[in-house]
Amino acid sequence: MSNLPRITIWNEFIHERRHAEIAKIYPNGMHGTIAEHLRAQGFEVQTATLDQPEHGLTDEVLANTDVLLWWGHMAHAKVADEVVEKVHQRIVAEGMGLIALHSAHFSKIFVKLMGTTCNLKWREMGEKERLWVVNPGHPIARGIGDYIEIPNAEMYGEHFDIPQPDEQVFVSWFQGGEVFRSGNCFFRGRGKIFYFRPGHETYPIFHQPEILKVIENAIYWAAPAGGPGVNFGHFPTPLESFEISGDQIEIEHPEESLK
Ligand code: ZN
Repeated sequence: MSNLPRITIWNEFIHERRHAEIAKIYPNGMHGTIAEHLRAQGFEVQTATLDQPEHGLTDEVLANTDVLLWWGHMAHAKVADEVVEKVHQRIVAEGMGLIALHSAHFSKIFVKLMGTTCNLKWREMGEKERLWVVNPGHPIARGIGDYIEIPNAEMYGEHFDIPQPDEQVFVSWFQGGEVFRSGNCFFRGRGKIFYFRPGHETYPIFHQPEILKVIENAIYWAAPAGGPGVNFGHFPTPLESFEISGDQIEIEHPEESLK
C-alpha cells in the first residue's frame, strides 16, 4: 500500500471492442493503457466498465477510490442514474476527485456537476491541436512546456457551454482556426473536478507522454485534501454562552426531522 491517491478508471469500453483499428491502438482499452502507465508510476489502479454490474462502480470500489477518471462517448445514456447519483455524492459530500476525459463532457456525471448543457462544436478531420498552458504556476502544468502538441486530433471548439472554470490550465488552438478551453478545474462541494479535452479514440493520444503527465498531475490535484468533515443541520447548543435580550418568536420546524 502506498500513500498515493487510489485511482479508478471508468471506460464505457465499446469503441475498442467494436472497431479493429481502435483495438490496434488500445488492445486492452483506453482504460488499460492509462492504467498500465499509472501502475508503473506506483499508483493503485482499479478499472471499471459499462458492462459490469453497477458499471463496475460498486460501493466498495467507490469507497476505495480517491480519484475517478471517466471516458465515455456513445453510451452516456446507458449509465444508470443510481450510479451517477452515488458518484455525485462521493464527489460533493466526500471529496472524491473526478477527471473527465474528452467526450466525457457529455457524461451524465459531468453535466450534473456543471449544471449547463456542456455542448460544444466538433469536427473530425485529424487536424493538429496545440494546448497552451495558460496557468504556468498551476500544479497540473508541472513539468509541461509552454504547450503540448497533438499531431492529429478531433476538433472541439468554443463555445463550450460550461460554467466559468474556477481555474483554467489549458486553452487549445486547432489548425482549422477554433479555440477551446481544454483544461478546466472546478470545485463542487468537497470535490475537485478536472476536465481534460484530449483523448479521441481513433488517435494514440493516451500513449503520448505529456498527456499522461497531465493526467498524473491532475490526479494529485484532484485527490481529497483531507480537510475537516462537514456537518449540516440544527445546532441548538452554541459554542459560547451568551444572553439575548428581548422576546424571541418561536415556531415549530417540522422539516427538521428531514435532516
Ligand atoms: Zn472524440
